[in-house]
Amino acid sequence: MGLVRTAQNLAASLIWYSGLGRLLHNNMSPRFTVLMYHRIAKDKESIEYFPDVYGGTSKTFDAQMRFLAEHCNLISFDELDDILSGKKSAPKHAVLVTFDDGYKDNHDVAYPILKKYKIPCTFALSTGFVGHKRLMWWDQLSYVLGKTTKDSIKVEATEIELKDHKRALRKITKYMKTLTEKKKRPFLESLSNELGVVLPEERVSMTWDEVRNLHGITLSAHTVNHPIMTKIPLAEAKKEAMDSVRKIERETGNRVTIFTYPNGKKADMSSDLDAYLHHKGIRFILTTLYRENDYRISAPFIINRKGVNIQHNLSMFRLQALGVDTFLQGYIKRFL
Ligand SMILES: [Zn+2]
Repeated sequence: MGLVRTAQNLAASLIWYSGLGRLLHNNMSPRFTVLMYHRIAKDKESIEYFPDVYGGTSKTFDAQMRFLAEHCNLISFDELDDILSGKKSAPKHAVLVTFDDGYKDNHDVAYPILKKYKIPCTFALSTGFVGHKRLMWWDQLSYVLGKTTKDSIKVEATEIELKDHKRALRKITKYMKTLTEKKKRPFLESLSNELGVVLPEERVSMTWDEVRNLHGITLSAHTVNHPIMTKIPLAEAKKEAMDSVRKIERETGNRVTIFTYPNGKKADMSSDLDAYLHHKGIRFILTTLYRENDYRISAPFIINRKGVNIQHNLSMFRLQALGVDTFLQGYIKRFL
């Protein structure tokens, strides 16, 4: 684990166990937190492909969910809609839990734990992957870099050392996020050729039967092919979004009112698309902007979310869930 992570975890433990975390939390203005996960590993040994998308193992995820069940008010997006529309009053520190991309471990590992603690949760599905032997590009990239015996590779005139796998993965992932969607596949193909590794194709997503087997889970559309929406023409982006909405509705019989942006930063979002989706019945638009959420927003509700990382300890998770971490960040920024 890196020095920064270790220092963050240590600071989080000090803040939590000194009682400062709870003290700060009690004095904060009412806001709600939406947590974002991608994958949960059965155990450390079963971590596969891109390691950074894991939010925990079954053991640490269980501890996180137990904390939420004991200390927070867990609500669904339907309940949040009632609160934001003024039909219901806001509970003290509401938390929502979300999972992106539709990985199979969401069904196999996370779902039983969510059920155990009766935690309402939302799974965002990229429908072109559900039931298919098809990997997200970052999983393919991680696999290729892990398997190659080559020492370095040139990407856009920059020589990247491959011995430090994590660093190389971070660098090439960052580069690939700048590519248009059409260029991602050819780039991966030439990279895997040069590195002498065959691009893997395996099913790591849920099947529709598994999706239908989920009870108490709300489904969100997350496009068909997981493109960054501002890197494709608007007409195509609209189709990607609505095709995934319709596919989920057809397969499950439930209405979809939540759309989750791939990548989800400011530059990946389009206000034209937001307006179109709102017109089509979408109430919530989920981002990956790492912030708390204010209750004073209007539809379509643009929702900030905080990613949970497997490298964070339980104290850090507690501060995340209670909104103390972002409160402290804002405080530090204001006074330094
Ligand atoms: Zn995603």
